[in-house]
Amino acid sequence: MAEKRTTGEWQALDRAHHMHPFTDSKTLAARGTRVITRAEGVYVYDNEGNKILDGMAGLWCVAVGYGRRELVDAATRQLLDLPYYNSFFQTSTPTQIELAQKLSELTPPGLKHFFFANSGSEANDTIIRLARLYWSLMGKPNKRTFIGRTWGYHGSTVAASSLGGMPAMHTQDGKNLPEFAHISHPHWYLRGGDLSREEFGIQAARELETKILELGPENVAAFIGEPVQGAGGVIDPPMTYWPEIQRICRKYDVLLVADEVICGFGRLGHWFGSEMYDIKPDFMPMAKGLSSGYLPIAASAIHERIFEVINDKAGMVHHGYTYSGHPAACAVALANIELIKKEEIIERVRHDTAPYFRKAMEQVTNGHPIVGELRGVGLLAGFQLVKDKAKRTVFAPEQEVGIRCREFATQNNLIMRPLGQSTVVLSPPLVISHSEIDELADKVKRSLDATAKLFGFA
Ligand code: PMP
Repeated sequence: MAEKRTTGEWQALDRAHHMHPFTDSKTLAARGTRVITRAEGVYVYDNEGNKILDGMAGLWCVAVGYGRRELVDAATRQLLDLPYYNSFFQTSTPTQIELAQKLSELTPPGLKHFFFANSGSEANDTIIRLARLYWSLMGKPNKRTFIGRTWGYHGSTVAASSLGGMPAMHTQDGKNLPEFAHISHPHWYLRGGDLSREEFGIQAARELETKILELGPENVAAFIGEPVQGAGGVIDPPMTYWPEIQRICRKYDVLLVADEVICGFGRLGHWFGSEMYDIKPDFMPMAKGLSSGYLPIAASAIHERIFEVINDKAGMVHHGYTYSGHPAACAVALANIELIKKEEIIERVRHDTAPYFRKAMEQVTNGHPIVGELRGVGLLAGFQLVKDKAKRTVFAPEQEVGIRCREFATQNNLIMRPLGQSTVVLSPPLVISHSEIDELADKVKRSLDATAKLFGFA
């Protein structure tokens, strides 16, 4: 247990020793960090006792909400029985085996084998290595390049950040790893022009064909995409997009990777985004909602036709993490899946909460002076902030409109996140109730109104 300290004391220690992810440390030091001390349901509490509505479910992960005894008990029991053992020495632990089996029931057909990791980034790194191994075993060792998308996010390791298409991450590194290429994101509002959503979906998908032909199909290992791009600003593609992507992948013998780290485990009102968009992936990384974030765990699902080749021909696969399939994390994931099923959380999201959430957000954004488009599926929302609706012009990055909006949200005790191009997003816990959605909508409205006023609208 951490000691009791004043917020000022925590901030001083934080400033002195703690380097934060995705943070400008100078700005943070000037403002002082917010210290979150506990949480319950859809609310987190800071050291000052403020009750804050968590519109982001942590980092898109706390699907079943905070304070769920079932998950805590599962971890405690497992930690007492067997806190750790590895799966390298021709050994397994029961929760690893059960979780792999359970995932084979829940994931799309053909995904029968699961490799465990601790984070989405590691799950994607695993897939890069396994896909290249597969092609090499198939006698096509040149098929190594991965094609991702601009504003795609697949993690922060060296390989995963090259796989993703976050402009600032690439700029910071100076140079991307070789054998990673990108096509544009299917952002109809900003890129669709006069095309209908459906027409644009096909056009955006065809960029993949052009890129494969440019690189040479004999050099391309796989295409990766999130069913709905999350960190890029909640970009939900037109329904024509994924079928066309899938057709192109099959035509050129390019593997298809659906990154379900955000979309998986009910976020879109289905177990997986692949279900909703009818994607039949060869690999599928998952994390976040797998354990609702109570303990870190991720998995890479592997299609049986790929596993069989590796199993037949590879011999020892030189890949693994000390905490691959950590027994306690697996126990929490199993308890989390059981809870999602028992409480029918996904059905409730699909038929009840998501439509209610959508309607509430539409009421907030319809006719709003700076919201050009409301995007999203299930319990995901992206608010596209624009300075000129007729021309669909976004605010310049240096205007930091999303950050200003987040600051107003913070004043309203709401966690909302600026992401992508001039966008703020929401991804609340899947257990959010109607009255909590009403409160969320009211806080979002106040934050958007204040932002509009600041930028001279309204
Ligand atoms: N893939 C996607 C789609 C993600 O959204 C994220 C994290 N936001 C990752 C991968 C990386 O996961 P992690 O932060 O656990 O490494």
